[in-house]
Amino acid sequence: MNPDKPAPAIPGITPVRTRIAPSPTGFLHLGTARTALYSWAYARHFGGQFVLRIEDTDVARSTQDSVDQILAAMQWLGLDCDEGPIYQMQRLDRYHAVVEQMLAAGTAYRCWCTPEELDAMREAQRERGVKTHYDGRWRPSRGKTLPSPPAGVKPVVRFANPVDGIVTWDDLVKGSISISNHEIDDLIILRPDGVPTYNFAVVVDDWDMAISHVFRGDEHINNTPWQINIFHALGAPLPRFGHCPIILGDDGQKLSKRRGAVSVTAYQDAGYLPESMLNYLARLGWSHGDEELFSAAQMVKWFDGSHLAKSPAQWDPVKLAWVNAQHLKLADDGRLAGLVAAQLASRGVGVAADERLVAMCALYKDRCSTTVELADWLAMHFVPVVPPADELAALLTDAVRPALVALRDRLAGCDWDKAAIAAALKAVLAEHKLKMPQLAMPLRLLLCGRVQTPSVDAVVALFERQIVLERLRHL
Ligand code: GLU
Repeated sequence: MNPDKPAPAIPGITPVRTRIAPSPTGFLHLGTARTALYSWAYARHFGGQFVLRIEDTDVARSTQDSVDQILAAMQWLGLDCDEGPIYQMQRLDRYHAVVEQMLAAGTAYRCWCTPEELDAMREAQRERGVKTHYDGRWRPSRGKTLPSPPAGVKPVVRFANPVDGIVTWDDLVKGSISISNHEIDDLIILRPDGVPTYNFAVVVDDWDMAISHVFRGDEHINNTPWQINIFHALGAPLPRFGHCPIILGDDGQKLSKRRGAVSVTAYQDAGYLPESMLNYLARLGWSHGDEELFSAAQMVKWFDGSHLAKSPAQWDPVKLAWVNAQHLKLADDGRLAGLVAAQLASRGVGVAADERLVAMCALYKDRCSTTVELADWLAMHFVPVVPPADELAALLTDAVRPALVALRDRLAGCDWDKAAIAAALKAVLAEHKLKMPQLAMPLRLLLCGRVQTPSVDAVVALFERQIVLERLRHL
């Protein structure tokens, strides 16, 4: 991706290895796409590797459809990974082996509390006005007699979290963060069905996959102390963590499904280009000077983990549309023709992405924010248009009608290119003593169904002659 030599690896952290670890319980949402982008760009910047891991341990909610959508979104964005997808549910043996090691080392223990017992424990804590927590009743300690395991109850395994001390890390985004061990309890790491929980599996994986830097959403800040403690319990090296603030909707509230948090691929369907999404997502929480428009390769060159914003950014659909409009201008017209042909095909309009379509993209793209809008423009060349009757009545006057008839006759016989069409228009204007707008406006209305278009000769030249003659038939 990066044409230039990658930046030298960070001293002491070689090689850089990052990952994105989405849960396939829904589509790839925008926040995850952004942390995927940061993780990918960071790895590429330092010549490291980027790993894709599917965290599918929420068996009830994980679906193959979500996996497929996530992989498609990553591919569309061009966030290529060096390893993966790696599926957590295919690594159960490894988690079980680590749990056994921890049980043997005394850093984890079995707990036979039933859900009812845990409910009662919490209820009692609430009544006493203390924060609910696991009270450690199955945690072994010197001189303590544990209850006998009840029959018929499958135990969970809990991590023996350090009781004292403070967990501190230097967050790549937020700076120093400290959370006291008093605030966290003994986390379940293995469920009775043998499936690990997120905070445990993530540590085993980040360790096994030699992840050096973890970028993720700041909703995970409260999980990080547990993870750091588990890394220490395993004697595993700690990655650096960077927690990116959430993305707010344009109403300033948390971006959610109800507030327009649509999937990355929904933007693909809505006619956005992947380079625009990358550009816009990157800027939403990171800056490089005043740069607003850049390519993925430029971002890779610049992205060294600095200048990440500490506070939440607000999703701005207007700015995204502007960014997309700029990238549309830069996009190769042949590529756009392919995208627009697909858009038109989805509307039941079958057209080839041929030279004429390429020329149409070149002509209209400056007026568009999305390829859907571009398809709207191109559609008039292929499907009948309905000029608004009131506009037509105002523009198609008796003075203009004979000129349009004369133009139609000339267009029936002239060469079919912009210069010949311009010459036909000019001749008719002279013959009928009209000004260009008097002829061009009704002509546009009849051909295109609207009066605002690029230069009329260029537009006419992109129509098939037969269609032009057809649309000028009833004058
Ligand atoms: N599966 C977690 C999520 O989707 C991953 C968090 C992490 O990156 O550690 O939020």
